[in-house]
Amino acid sequence: MAEGMAEGTVHIVGAGLAGLSTAVRLVERGRRVVLHEANRFAGGRCRTFHDPRLEREIDNGNHLILSGNRSSRAYLAAIGASGRMVEQPARFAFVDLGADPANDRRWTVAMNRGALPWWIAAPGRRIPDTGITDYLAGVRLAIAGPGKTVAEALPGRGPLWTRFWVPLTLAAINTTPERASAQLLWAVLRETFARGERYCRPLLAPGGLGHALVEPAVAWLGARGAELRLGRVLRAVEGQGGHAVTLRFADGDEVLGPDDRVVLALPPSRLRAVLRQALPGIDPPDDACTIVNVFFRLAEPPPESVAPILGVLSSTAHWIFRRGDVVSVTVSAADALGVDGHTSEKLIPAIWEETRRALGLAAGTSYLAARINKERRATFDQSPAGVAKRLQPRTALTNLFLAGDATDTGLPATIEGAIRSGERAAALVE
Ligand SMILES: Cc1cc2nc3c(=O)[nH]c(=O)nc-3n(C[C@H](O)[C@H](O)[C@H](O)COP(=O)(O)OP(=O)(O)OC[C@H]3O[C@@H](n4cnc5c(N)ncnc54)[C@H](O)[C@@H]3O)c2cc1C
Repeated sequence: MAEGMAEGTVHIVGAGLAGLSTAVRLVERGRRVVLHEANRFAGGRCRTFHDPRLEREIDNGNHLILSGNRSSRAYLAAIGASGRMVEQPARFAFVDLGADPANDRRWTVAMNRGALPWWIAAPGRRIPDTGITDYLAGVRLAIAGPGKTVAEALPGRGPLWTRFWVPLTLAAINTTPERASAQLLWAVLRETFARGERYCRPLLAPGGLGHALVEPAVAWLGARGAELRLGRVLRAVEGQGGHAVTLRFADGDEVLGPDDRVVLALPPSRLRAVLRQALPGIDPPDDACTIVNVFFRLAEPPPESVAPILGVLSSTAHWIFRRGDVVSVTVSAADALGVDGHTSEKLIPAIWEETRRALGLAAGTSYLAARINKERRATFDQSPAGVAKRLQPRTALTNLFLAGDATDTGLPATIEGAIRSGERAAALVE
């Protein structure tokens, strides 16, 4: 333990990536940590599980991490799991499923090495039908005020808009450009695309995200004496005289000692509920933005010529990831999709037809099994109004701090944002 540091326990509530990242950084500093998690598993919105219908392990949804995500990389290194993610070249394949199935248009954006983006000047590497000046307009995101959406900040609705800005905004912000905060999209570009190819390489977890980001962290923490208490639902925090004094869990109270600290690494809707009594004015952004993923198990893996990540345009599907004989299809900003038992039955064949075309499989090719996964609370409200409500990690309770992707990291609701929020909360716990 570092000199001058309190000797109490740090109670971290929520073992998603924000809670795990907080725990890792505190344990590194010699703090005693107890992680409390409502579920029977850690990982939160980023998890791997065995699906009996597909008879395969799948992630709850496709997650894209880029090599410029420095906090994610540092976290992987800290837990000894860097080797569980594989860096891909910064080549982004797209297919536009226009009205005529015989003429699906395909292209690959191939970024060059080095910081200078000369790929923009090479017609064969950039997006079809776009010119250099179209790309330069992207700097307008950097100077957009906090109240601006992506659609308000960027001029022009030509091919660069439909083939780059719209899919990028959906992927990075899980929100249409008409609603998404321009500043959040700029934050992504600033740390990745604007820095060159070395910072834009997708990191894929061939064995599943849980085996790369979650299990190694749990093992690392356990080996260093941190406790993970699963199935512990926090109902309320009791505050008194500017301090949190009791954590009221469904299965009993945790009375806090004078040197104990608390980090709540919870999504906004849960945070609001547990802090109702202790911090009644707290008003985080809503977190009801949906992502739908559809998984297909195929009779055999798609041909190697199919890119591991494929952007799809003019379709309900947005991105297709392949892992072995399972392909998974993401539909972002999917609130309007209204997925329930009935609509899923219609949606799966429609998405399969798009997927089959995108993968270049022959008409009539079918799949062995399918599964649909709707994450109703995938991300917080990332409109300018939602972003304005993000909470700071310090609270009016001196011994209670906040982490989580919805806290004010400056980044969108991402793995990188969650992990960085944990670094920051850990640094504040003295
Ligand atoms: C389908 C999908 C696709 C995504 N795609 C991407 C992507 O491509 N790239 C990317 O970077 N990010 C993506 N994200 C976002 C990313 O997964 C999240 O930003 C990140 O996982 C959030 O981590 P967190 O720790 O802040 O929150 P969470 O993962 O939500 O963790 C909070 C934890 O708190 C627990 N909890 C809740 N209430 C209580 C309670 N009362 N008591 C105790 N514990 C409680 C929860 O069970 C959970 O484990 C995606 C998310 C989803 C769902």
